[in-house]
Amino acid sequence: MLHVGIDDTDSPSGMCTTYISCLIIDKLKVCGYTIKGYPRLIRLNPFTPHKTRGNGAVSFRLEVREEDEIKKVKDVVLSLVSRLSELKNDDTNPGVVFYEGEISESLERFALDAIRRILTIEDAKRLADKIGAEVYEYKNGRGIIGALAAIGCPLPDKTYELIAYRSPENYGKKRKIDKESVKRMDKETYPETFDNIDDDYIAIEPHTPCPILYGIRGESPKALIRAHQMIKVGEKIERYCIFETNQHTDQHIQKVDSISQMRQFSCYLVTGEVKDMPRIIEGGHVFFTLKDDTGEIECAAYEPTKDFRKTIMKLRPGDKVKVFGGIGVHGTLNIEKIKIEHVKPLIRYENPICSCGKRMKSAGKNKGFKCPNCGKKSDDQKIPKRIPRSLKEGYYEVPTCARRHLSKPLIRMGIKGCS
Ligand code: ATP
Repeated sequence: MLHVGIDDTDSPSGMCTTYISCLIIDKLKVCGYTIKGYPRLIRLNPFTPHKTRGNGAVSFRLEVREEDEIKKVKDVVLSLVSRLSELKNDDTNPGVVFYEGEISESLERFALDAIRRILTIEDAKRLADKIGAEVYEYKNGRGIIGALAAIGCPLPDKTYELIAYRSPENYGKKRKIDKESVKRMDKETYPETFDNIDDDYIAIEPHTPCPILYGIRGESPKALIRAHQMIKVGEKIERYCIFETNQHTDQHIQKVDSISQMRQFSCYLVTGEVKDMPRIIEGGHVFFTLKDDTGEIECAAYEPTKDFRKTIMKLRPGDKVKVFGGIGVHGTLNIEKIKIEHVKPLIRYENPICSCGKRMKSAGKNKGFKCPNCGKKSDDQKIPKRIPRSLKEGYYEVPTCARRHLSKPLIRMGIKGCS
């Protein structure tokens, strides 16, 4: 089995590694090669400093044994990557990896590290050398990290994405996708497809000048094809491709026992207690401090998370929560989902009511109470009164428009979210 991994071919002004891979695959098919299964779109660490957008890398597999066949495949792959990559962009450093053989444990571990940590080009080269993978580096060759990870990534849970590509003459122009047809498609195919639309925002449509017209995400290729057939567009679809992916599987989330174990640029599931009142800062970003016996961390629901921030604003000191999220460049834990495990009852202490019906007043320190109406005195204690909390225990998630590629929606977890 020959595995091919490709990454870092695009730039913010154009191209897309999935598109180049799709062209390569179509060309290989024309040349008579059979691709094994679906090509794979693997999302890596969302905090990788050099990512263009969603830190995605692609791999695919072919059953080829003869030397001249393998050489032909390599020629097709390398010539298209050389020709189509955005090599003029300073931060585009394509990498291509060819690997013949079984996916070893070390390769799987490398892929999981690329999803959960920050790696170096040397890490990738060392592993490639060890397992006998052939690497092709363009410019500084950083793309070999993603290319190798895309080959090695295990997919115990997976989703699919159907990506429809525009005709090149339309690149950069406004996309013509009929919103009503997307709404209808969502209504008829959800939850077999998901994250299609968010109120009036078409979530399947990218907002960059890349070759993608739309991408539909879902549980099976069959559901995606049905959904794709339901979408009406006012421009030509040049081609489409279905990818098997680790998107929306929470593969980036590491469960930790304590706050002190967490590191920057990684994503976690952590349990703790709300330490202070949530606060909102200019720009509409909401923060609160989460604590446990080992330390504390600032948790953030940024402005793009929209109404999710209202839930966070309802937290109070003493509430017990489980937070799913990643520690970004500012050192805050960016919340993707939260489970409110325990809403702490809030108690307010009130002065007792006099027998005449009026609320009593303090008669001075340690002197009990006195009625301002009839003058009656009392040695009673203040009376505890429970203040109603509007926050319900349960799971809450950010809206579709703010969801990370890797983040698992509650619907995929079989959980009904609260709102
Ligand atoms: P797109 O989503 O549009 O394909 P992108 O966001 O995937 O673009 P790339 O152009 O692929 O961005 O750039 C990401 C770069 O970061 C690649 O060179 C990749 O090899 C590298 N990379 C990926 N994961 C890691 C990691 N965990 N540590 C260090 N580098 C990484």
